[in-house]
Amino acid sequence: MQTVLITGASRGIGRAAAFAFAKAGYAVAVNYLSHGDAAEQVKNAILSEGGVAETFRADVADLSQTERMTAEIGRRLGRPSVLVANAGISAFGLAADMGDDEWNRLFAVNVRGVRNAVRCVLPDMIDKKSGKIVTVASVWGEVGASCEAAYSATKAAVIGYTRALAKELAPSGINVNCVSPGVIDTEMNARLTREERRAVMEEIPLGRFGTAEDVARAILFLASSAADYITGEVLGVNGGFGR
Ligand code: NAP
Repeated sequence: MQTVLITGASRGIGRAAAFAFAKAGYAVAVNYLSHGDAAEQVKNAILSEGGVAETFRADVADLSQTERMTAEIGRRLGRPSVLVANAGISAFGLAADMGDDEWNRLFAVNVRGVRNAVRCVLPDMIDKKSGKIVTVASVWGEVGASCEAAYSATKAAVIGYTRALAKELAPSGINVNCVSPGVIDTEMNARLTREERRAVMEEIPLGRFGTAEDVARAILFLASSAADYITGEVLGVNGGFGR
């Protein structure tokens, strides 16, 4: 049985990805930071369907916590052959108002967090000369969003990191791809008012917000053998938004 590590799998896109991978027969390492109860619910739902899952608390911004988690996953589930680097945070406001602390935390989680998780799974993937890494960026990392300049910058960094890693790791048999979601109906967008939601929806050609499951299906595809000849790609899951 293959093991997948999904960072930020207690809620939203990561949780939907956990269910999708479990259904596809993977043992799922459910990483979380602050919502342990939600992570346990994800695990229990997978177990109740006959799947295999364990929860692992770690702040992916912290390399030593991520290293400890990865070692523990190896002991309890087997070393991950797939990494979904999904954990992320957002921030909304004028660029001129953002202080250093908020800027640094965004980059620590969204960029260093991806690098930390990659760094921890890589040695084993390189040894085995196989592996799949899927990062989660954002349409804002491709086109930029007003009042989300720092967030957009972190996601552009994830896209650049993904494309470069894909080239570096291809000779080691490791595929590295990115999903780039548009506007997805998760708690990350809970701050939107009803009017704002309607206004955003009018900008989406397919006429609705994406679901976490829409994104999870794209992640599972990129991790599957159906995507063996795809690497360095940025797959938009956006209903046509931002194009
Ligand atoms: P969400 O509902 O807010 O969930 C975020 C997840 O990340 C939670 O499971 C959270 O765990 C985890 N997390 C946050 N910081 C972490 C850390 N330092 N270490 C470990 N886990 C951490 O967000 P989402 O909408 O599912 O977003 C998932 C990814 O998609 C993010 O990278 C986000 O930027 C990206 N994205 C989302 C949208 C959207 O419209 N929703 C659009 C484009 C891209 P705890 O709750 O346990 O702390």
